[in-house]
Amino acid sequence: MERWRIRVRGTVQGVGFRPFVYRRAVALQLSGRVGNDGEGVVVDVEGPRETLTALLHAVRSQAPALALVEQVAVERLPVTGDRGFVIAPTVTGAGTDVRVSADVAPCEACLRELGDADDRRFGYPFLNCTDCGPRYTIVRNVPYDRASTTMSDFPLCARCQQEYDDPADRRFHAQPTACPDCGPRLWWREEQGSAEGPSALDAAARVLGSGGVVAVKGVGGYHLACDAGDERALTLLRRRKNRPDKPFAVMVGDLSAAEELCVLSSSARAALTSLRRPIVLAPRRSRASVAPGVAPGLPELGVALPSSGLHVLLLAAVHRPVVMTSGNRSGEPLVHDDAEALDVLGPLVDGVLGHDRPIHVGVDDSVLRSAPGGRLQMTRRARGWVPQPVRLTVASPHPVLAVGAQLKSTVALARGNSLTVSQHLGDLDDWPTYGAFTSAIGHLIRLSGVQPTVVAHDLHPDYRSTAWAQESGLTRIGVQHHHAHVAACLVEHRITTKVLGIAFDGTGLGTDGTLWGGEFLLADLLDFERVGHLVPAQQPGGDAAVREPWRMALSWLHRALGPDVAAEHGARLDGRWAAVLSLVASGRSPETSSAGRLFDAAAALLGIRSIVSYEGQAAIELEACARKATASRTPEWDVDVRGSVLDPAPLLLGLVDGRSRGLGVDVLAAAFHRGLASGTARLAVDLAELHDVDTVALSGGVFQNVVFSDLLADQLRRAGLRVLMHEHLPPHDGSISAGQAGVAAARLATEGRRNA
Ligand code: ZN
Ligand code: ZN
Ligand code: FE
Repeated sequence: MERWRIRVRGTVQGVGFRPFVYRRAVALQLSGRVGNDGEGVVVDVEGPRETLTALLHAVRSQAPALALVEQVAVERLPVTGDRGFVIAPTVTGAGTDVRVSADVAPCEACLRELGDADDRRFGYPFLNCTDCGPRYTIVRNVPYDRASTTMSDFPLCARCQQEYDDPADRRFHAQPTACPDCGPRLWWREEQGSAEGPSALDAAARVLGSGGVVAVKGVGGYHLACDAGDERALTLLRRRKNRPDKPFAVMVGDLSAAEELCVLSSSARAALTSLRRPIVLAPRRSRASVAPGVAPGLPELGVALPSSGLHVLLLAAVHRPVVMTSGNRSGEPLVHDDAEALDVLGPLVDGVLGHDRPIHVGVDDSVLRSAPGGRLQMTRRARGWVPQPVRLTVASPHPVLAVGAQLKSTVALARGNSLTVSQHLGDLDDWPTYGAFTSAIGHLIRLSGVQPTVVAHDLHPDYRSTAWAQESGLTRIGVQHHHAHVAACLVEHRITTKVLGIAFDGTGLGTDGTLWGGEFLLADLLDFERVGHLVPAQQPGGDAAVREPWRMALSWLHRALGPDVAAEHGARLDGRWAAVLSLVASGRSPETSSAGRLFDAAAALLGIRSIVSYEGQAAIELEACARKATASRTPEWDVDVRGSVLDPAPLLLGLVDGRSRGLGVDVLAAAFHRGLASGTARLAVDLAELHDVDTVALSGGVFQNVVFSDLLADQLRRAGLRVLMHEHLPPHDGSISAGQAGVAAARLATEGRRNA
């Protein structure tokens, strides 16, 4: 006989881990106890050595679906002669290192009950079990227990309590479990009145069916919904939300309905039906039965399957594709508070469908983009992923908080080898988003129980995240923006050696005080050297040039082809061209080597988009055009590579020339992508050889463009280089916090070694 203490760290609370251990231990006739504490799950177990080994094996390799075991440690204890096996009550205490699970869509067993007229949870939207249900969005504190969630105000009825206490039951210790007798209730508010329970759902379905707009409370916040086939409803929604062009996502009842709208790869199907339930952007079918206003002019459509019991019921009642877009004022965070929903969203909609289970943390839908070849690209990392940790190869000796960039903000907390990246928060230019940023920091710290001593931040002094770091009183580590991009890619692929990083994005402050964004960096986690870049161009009007891509077109024409050509084409771009041209001629605008701005310039030159209504719109539409072109007729241009500088002037000449010869916009857009990709690849291959590296990491917002990414990656691979692309983190600034944390951890670890 031996007695072991098995300690399990990772995402092991709220995922049915204790019942899993209990059932195994009982089946193996072992005695002892299993419990949650501040560090995860602890099992004190007694029995013959071989049987204990069998239990240990099960803990390591057969954990429940939602669990993420990071570490299992075994310690010998004195034998006590215990009889029987029990689940111990939760111990609260300091030093918590508990991973709460991400939110999970209803499992198969719960869905069966939802549709079973004989089940007591038939048609009850809030059913869940140890395998599914809300988690991160309802947790207020750790250890994860009903009392620390927003379910604390719903005492279990006798039957639910019985299930909760029965080790043989699927709901054994399922913290958010509920039934129609004891759990949350639906409500409906509209001008003409209100309803509760099932009739609330009927009312919402009725309004949706008759062309109305409805606010619906989802897992991580409110959505605005309308019939996706009803152009009038869509126009109404766009006008009320003040969102003229940005595409909406569509929710459908099941996979076959999704297949009717989009062409889905097997990986896209797997992602859609996964319990994380992201939105998947995929090529739309020409006969897709959604109104054009859902995603105007774009060849892709965002589709999703129901992410909660409520959505399952609503989609079944409406029985057609429904637009589900974030319920917020333009640019602000998703509304997740009920009073705020009635106040802020109420005036925009014909009714609000809510319920009385509070959402503690607002979390957006995650978005994946389906790229050719079955590759999936993370576009927005939020519900279903957060707070699942990323593993750091270089452990941080001190807890590090990384505060990210300014746009597409996320924050991250590193402790040892474990890195938790927050949900997508939005743009910190907006004050309510800044509020979400500060509360995300507080929540990460509370859930991990770790007080950071070091803060990693961007070098840009005007970022609100940088200002927060400066005022935090913590030891600061500044990380250059594009180094953070490349580092995020290295963190994700667990690479610690030197690589050639290609960081192409909209903008970031360089170490020379100018704006960068088309960078070739020889980098590892510790440091970098800028070994190549895109030739800089003026950005006339600063930020105005981001909103008005025609300004960049004029600037590039002036730079590449001279003032005469710029003047000749100016009038086509915008009525204000003459003033901006003289601004460019004066040479007083800030210079930028941004690749993102170059894509903007090309889109404006081709007449695709000269003023944007959402970030990245011009580049997205340029890529959409390039995808429509048939490869065979594309002209071949190449960019100039002078030493370590990439000059795209020949591409701009090609675009101007091609237009004057009457070539199609699609063909020219494709030629631009190919030309820039082959020039970039040529310089990268040269630099890799010069600096003796065999791996290239691609990061930055430009790599959301799958046409450009795939062209470039193909050429690099053909030259024998290994290519790292983002998979689980987004290529854009949403992964800056992860990169900053990776750099800070590496620097602290090196410092620690030096001091030791
Ligand atoms: Zn379930
Ligand atoms: Zn109940
Ligand atoms: Fe960036």
